[in-house]
Amino acid sequence: MWEIPLFDVDFGVDEKSAVAGVLESGWLTMGEATSEFEQKFAEFSGIRHAIAVCNGTAGLHLAHRVLGIAEGDEVICPSLTFVAGANAIMYCGGRCVFADITSQEDLTISPEDIEAKITENTRAIQVMHYGGYPCDMEAIVEIARRHQLYIIEDCAHAPGSELNGIKCGGWGDVGVFSLFSNKNFTTGEGGVVVTNNDQLADKLRLMRSHGMTTLTVDRHKGHAFSYDVIEEGYNYRFDEVRAALGLVQLSKLSSYNAKRKELTEAYHGYLEGIEQVKIPFVNHRGVSAYHIFPILVENSEVSTELMQFLKNNRIQSSIHYRPIHLFSRYQKDFNTDTSSLGVTEDAASREVTLPLYPSMGLNEVGFVCETVKKFFNLQG
Ligand SMILES: *Cc1c(COP(=O)(O)O)cnc(C)c1O
Repeated sequence: MWEIPLFDVDFGVDEKSAVAGVLESGWLTMGEATSEFEQKFAEFSGIRHAIAVCNGTAGLHLAHRVLGIAEGDEVICPSLTFVAGANAIMYCGGRCVFADITSQEDLTISPEDIEAKITENTRAIQVMHYGGYPCDMEAIVEIARRHQLYIIEDCAHAPGSELNGIKCGGWGDVGVFSLFSNKNFTTGEGGVVVTNNDQLADKLRLMRSHGMTTLTVDRHKGHAFSYDVIEEGYNYRFDEVRAALGLVQLSKLSSYNAKRKELTEAYHGYLEGIEQVKIPFVNHRGVSAYHIFPILVENSEVSTELMQFLKNNRIQSSIHYRPIHLFSRYQKDFNTDTSSLGVTEDAASREVTLPLYPSMGLNEVGFVCETVKKFFNLQG
């Protein structure tokens, strides 16, 4: 249906043979491939511990649980993000306190607004590295230290992103990655929780599998006969098929991100100087994983018309994101004072996300941009 989709997966013979290898081995969950995947991802991230889980949202739930977020606790988080992070806070009985984004140039959470929203009930700050562009982590870490707050990093957009030589996920207490199909590297469904804290890592490993002291694989190998349950836990385990896929995808992540960067630079080349199109993050700091390519147009009518025009030309586009505080469920429960989320609401109403994926060609970027120019009655 689409000539150019919003995103596309890139699986080849390596992925096929990795999956076949697991099927032949006969061991399907939480085995050697999972351990190897966790170890390789920890190495890649320069973070002590990586714990693979069934999806990113489950990882975010564990992150809040392991930090003790509970009934009545407030967690400051962005509204311009996917709802998973806010839902994870709700699972724990916590209250989402939405902070605005920095500007139309920097769509990540504003350190200034974080500070303005701290109360005596605030326990944690949850950040999201929008589009793979790192948040202002120096400022946020400084605020968290001063007010003794935890930091949870939603790194779903940011595998490989870094600031001052520290990878995203390594700045806060706990970081969470997603391996969902549209992410920079994927296993279909999946997630990884990272931390530099040994005690948190031990607890996270327990909580991933019912709080049990031994795994099925240990008993299978004759390492243990019995077990105890020492934490409140869940079944958020990862399986071997996905671990094998993840290992192959992880080995390609750096080249995928390099390709995303090249395509993003091509977009900039075509679209810079077009008055009707504003490109955020032009002067971003650090290393981006270039997860998506967002642009801002004049207003919400133009954005709807542009998306329709792209669709007529079989180009898929999207919006990142409808602000969480405007969803019925969140309005009902939190009755947020929306007057302080003006930059978020304005950006969300004008944002259009254009296609970006590693197997996209430079000629396809050219076609998307020509179509955008045609929409604005400019020379292609
Ligand atoms: C994809 C995504 C998630 C959720 O990850 P799942 O693996 O789909 O549960 C969370 N936050 C953001 C910003 C995401 O893009």
